[in-house]
Amino acid sequence: MPVSTQADETNHLRPLAKTRDYRKQGITAKRLIYLDHSASTPVDPHVLESMMPFFSGSYGNASGTHRQARASARALDQARLDVADVLACKPREVVFTSCGTESDNLAIRGVAFASREAGKGGHLITSAVEHHAVGHTIDHLCEHFGFEQTVVPVDTDGLVNPADVERAVRPDTVLISIIHANNEVGSIQPLSAVGEIARAHDIPFHTDAVQAGGYLDLSVDHLKVDLLSLSGHKFYAPKGVGILYVRDGLGLLPQQTGGGHEGGLRAGTENVPYVVGLAAALKLAQATRVAESARLIALRDRIIQGIQAALPDSRLTGHPQQRLPNHASFVIPGVEAGALLMHLDLAGICAASGSACNTGLPEASPILLAMGIAPHLALGALRLTLGRSTQAGDIESVLEVLPGIVHTLRTMRPVYAPMV
Ligand code: PLP
Repeated sequence: MPVSTQADETNHLRPLAKTRDYRKQGITAKRLIYLDHSASTPVDPHVLESMMPFFSGSYGNASGTHRQARASARALDQARLDVADVLACKPREVVFTSCGTESDNLAIRGVAFASREAGKGGHLITSAVEHHAVGHTIDHLCEHFGFEQTVVPVDTDGLVNPADVERAVRPDTVLISIIHANNEVGSIQPLSAVGEIARAHDIPFHTDAVQAGGYLDLSVDHLKVDLLSLSGHKFYAPKGVGILYVRDGLGLLPQQTGGGHEGGLRAGTENVPYVVGLAAALKLAQATRVAESARLIALRDRIIQGIQAALPDSRLTGHPQQRLPNHASFVIPGVEAGALLMHLDLAGICAASGSACNTGLPEASPILLAMGIAPHLALGALRLTLGRSTQAGDIESVLEVLPGIVHTLRTMRPVYAPMV
C-alpha cells in the first residue's frame, strides 16, 4: 500500500534558511529533512481521506438513534473492531481517548482510585524512564492523594531489570506501569517478563506504548499487559486522539464523568472522524511495520555508524539493538542541545533533544541521568527519529552537516569542559 510523502507536502511550507555559515561550508539542504517523528508524524493522506466523510457528511452523534447517528455509530464500531484486531483483544476492551496523556492518566488514576475504593492499598511501581504523562501522574497521586511509589532503576542502556520489579512488589502494590519503548532513547523494555511477574502477584500491569504503536507488536497477550496506551499522532493519525486498552474485568474508576460513553469509562461524545482516522492509521502502520522497520533499521544504523565515525567522542544513548527501528539518539560532549538544534534547523534539519528548557536554563533529562549519563553530557542530547519520508540521502545530508555544526559550536564555546 502506498504511504505518504510527507516531505513533499511540507517542503513548500517555508523556504529553507541558507545561512552564511553553512553556505560557506558548501552545505545547503535541498529539502526539509524531518527527523522528529517521535514528536509527531504527518497525517497520512489515506488516513485523512478515511476521515473526511465524518466531518460534514455523516456528522451525527454516535449515541443517537436516527440514520445520521447510526452511520457514525457504525463507523465507531468498525474502528473499534479494527483496533481490537491489532491489539488481539475484544472490541469492548478498546477505549477511545483524546491522546496518549489522557490514556496514561485514565489507566493509572483509574486503577489507583478503584483499588483504594476496594481497600486494596496504594503502592505503585514504575520505572525511572517513563514519559511525564506517567511519571508526573504517579508523582501527583503520591503528593496529593497519599499513594506511594517505587521507581525501579534502569541500566546504562535504559532497560529495566524484571528482577528489580519483582523486588519492588509489596502486599499493597496495586499497579505496575512500565513504558514499552522510551521516547528519548528508544530502548524497548522486556515487557512480557514484567507481565509474568505482575500476573504471578495478581497486580494490574500498564504500559505506555505511545512510541511503539507504529513499529512493535501490540498484541496484549504477547506483551502480558492489562492496560496499554497509544496515541494517534505518533503513527500518522491526527493529534488529539488516543486509545486505552483495558482488560475485561479490571477495576477502573472513570476519571471523566458524564454520559456513559466508551463503556462508561470515558465520558464525552466520541470524536468519530478522528477515531476513524486513528483506526485506519493503526491498521496501515501495523500492516507495513515489518517492511518499514527493516528499511528504517538500515537507515538508523547508517546514521548511528556515521555519527560515531565523524564524532568519535559522541555516545549512542539507549540500547544498541533493542531499540525502536526509527530511533537514533546521542549525547555529544561540548555542545548544548538548544544551540545544536537551532543550527540544525537553520540547515533545514528538524531534530530534537532529550533535555527540557522550560526555564531558559537548559536542564539535563532525568531519563539520561537515570541511565548514569553525567549531567554535563546529558545537556548535549540529540534525538533523530526517522519516518516514512526519510530517505538515504537525508541521512547523508545530516552526516555532511552535523560534524561542522558541532565543530562550530565547540569553537564558539571556549571551554570544552563540563558545564555547571
Ligand atoms: N507517552 C510517550 C512515551 C510519549 O512519547 C508521548 C508523547 O510524546 C506521550 C505519552 C503523550 O502522548 P500525547 O502527545 O498523545 O498526549
